[in-house]
Amino acid sequence: MLKGKTAVITGGTRGIGKAIAYKLAENGANMAIIATTASQKAILTIEELEKLGSRVRLYICDVKNADQVVSVSEEIIADFGKIDILVNNAGITRDNILPSLSAMEIDDVIDVNLKGTIFVTKSFIRQFVRQRSGSIINISSVVGLMGNKGQTNYAASKAGIIGFTKAVAREYGKKNIRCNAVAPGFISTDMTDKLSDEQADEIKKQIPMGTLGRPQDVAELVLFLASDCASYITGEVIKVDGGLYV
Ligand code: NDP
Repeated sequence: MLKGKTAVITGGTRGIGKAIAYKLAENGANMAIIATTASQKAILTIEELEKLGSRVRLYICDVKNADQVVSVSEEIIADFGKIDILVNNAGITRDNILPSLSAMEIDDVIDVNLKGTIFVTKSFIRQFVRQRSGSIINISSVVGLMGNKGQTNYAASKAGIIGFTKAVAREYGKKNIRCNAVAPGFISTDMTDKLSDEQADEIKKQIPMGTLGRPQDVAELVLFLASDCASYITGEVIKVDGGLYV
């Protein structure tokens, strides 16, 4: 499905990003993976992905650092040439009720989730324009659509990603560049492992399908959006949430 294509994935060494990397590699894509450190886990992921037959390289970059993003994107373009798919997946939470949120907790979440998505997209957009093609997939969250108590900073960052996605879709549609957002519900990863058993049980009660999702559930949708099967879809926000927000 993606033979000969190249994908850039931020935060692609664990959680949802890793599942996306697997799915795209299984379907033939080469891969530039961005992570914050070359941890043992990150290196293992790259080795596992290479076994699927794809060309895979790890790049170290903090997506909230605009200068680092520019230099790493130049390196990726020099290494791979054509870039077909960009998945802005890197994200963090710093949960707290609003009066207790520190300025740092607000900045961190907006800087990584929203500004990181903007910086990375900005640094690849000229390449997509030169190519007259590209599929950008931004990982938002249902929390960006429905809100969630204790996550005002995170909800704002994820809602911001939706506005950004739609604006990019409008600005670059004529250049054959598509930009869509995926809004996962609660998915089992390191991020949701932080939930207590009581919180997890409470969340499950609200999900019509009764369970948390798996990273692969998100990856399947990303594969579809990345592929030519979605060649006339842009500016969309698609939920993968077991019906949490219907
Ligand atoms: P994890 O905490 O498991 O992984 C987060 C990933 O983001 C890691 O790969 C991490 O890289 C990367 N990352 C974090 N900060 C930075 C940074 N400053 N620069 C570069 N990379 C960074 O999270 P999930 O897999 O659960 O989440 C992935 C995305 O999905 C996030 O955007 C999240 O908001 C979103 N999401 C998750 C949901 C869930 O229920 N899990 C629900 C809805 C949305 P490293 O390994 O180097 O630290």
